[in-house]
Amino acid sequence: MSHDLKVGEIREQYVTEHQIWQHLNNFYYRSSVSTSYKYVFFKALLENLYNVDDKLGLSYNQIFYSFTNIYWNLVIHHNLAQSHNKNKPARAQTILQKYANDNAIPSEWQFDQLEDSLQLKIVNEVKRDCKQNVIGAFYGDTAGIFYEFDIKQAHFRFNKPVYQFMKKYQRILINLTNYHLGKYLEKVNEATSTMALLSKIEVISKRSSLETFYKVLTQFEQNRCFYCNCDLSTNRRKTHVDHFIPWSFVQNDNLWNLVLACNDCNLQKSDKITARFYLESMLERNHNLVSIVREPTYFNTYENKKLVDLYDYSIMNGYTTLWEPRKVHGLKN
Ligand SMILES: [Zn+2]
Repeated sequence: MSHDLKVGEIREQYVTEHQIWQHLNNFYYRSSVSTSYKYVFFKALLENLYNVDDKLGLSYNQIFYSFTNIYWNLVIHHNLAQSHNKNKPARAQTILQKYANDNAIPSEWQFDQLEDSLQLKIVNEVKRDCKQNVIGAFYGDTAGIFYEFDIKQAHFRFNKPVYQFMKKYQRILINLTNYHLGKYLEKVNEATSTMALLSKIEVISKRSSLETFYKVLTQFEQNRCFYCNCDLSTNRRKTHVDHFIPWSFVQNDNLWNLVLACNDCNLQKSDKITARFYLESMLERNHNLVSIVREPTYFNTYENKKLVDLYDYSIMNGYTTLWEPRKVHGLKN
């Protein structure tokens, strides 16, 4: 059985888009599903597409942080069962409920609101209990062409053509996965409709607050709007942390994709990307930030090419309206 696999090699290095779609459709429509694991796992991979290292590898911590974050928000925050068998809940569900009960955490809280040390503890336990089952099962459903893995070595690496495919069709794959997860959850949580579930699932990984990033950015940068250059120092309430490439596309909160923006720019830009000129400013901004921010995890896997790729692929995925502010304020010095 594929869910018992401890090691899996990439079965075919050269695969066409046609083959990849075939295996994906097989996964979406034909694979046996007893819990929501595989959908949440694939969502976690999609969220981490731009966190790969130079060999297209992902750490188990990255994968299972996303996996646990999604699960917490589904299970604790929205109180949704994740298994078709009421008497046999998904293991991840049991783990999370135990932590929520033991620590008396109210259901209003999202995962990012827990103490960092508690988050880490939970992620480690979910990782330990779920890695073998989840990674091997999805590998089997996609005929071993998506990635290679070794549970003992905590190794995971994408197959290159599949990785390119996932970037090219990222938005569609996010939508498809959300839809299938919604359909599954509707089945096992009889009372809720897929449409109502979808609106929750679409923002399930979104942080409750970007305050941590606000602190880092104001500490190391001039307090000015990245887009219109207005002075932000006078009004905290009107300062936003903005995803340079919209969150709806990246589904992630990497510091290298975050900027300070004024209220007006934030509202006007909304879910759009900017004119290309700002991409150049962003690369320069990151170049400066890398050299002064002392917390290395913020830039672990960052390289300029990733941001350029992200920009180009967001256009390819339909973010075609290029926004820029109507008025740019003059530089002070
Ligand atoms: Zn502005």
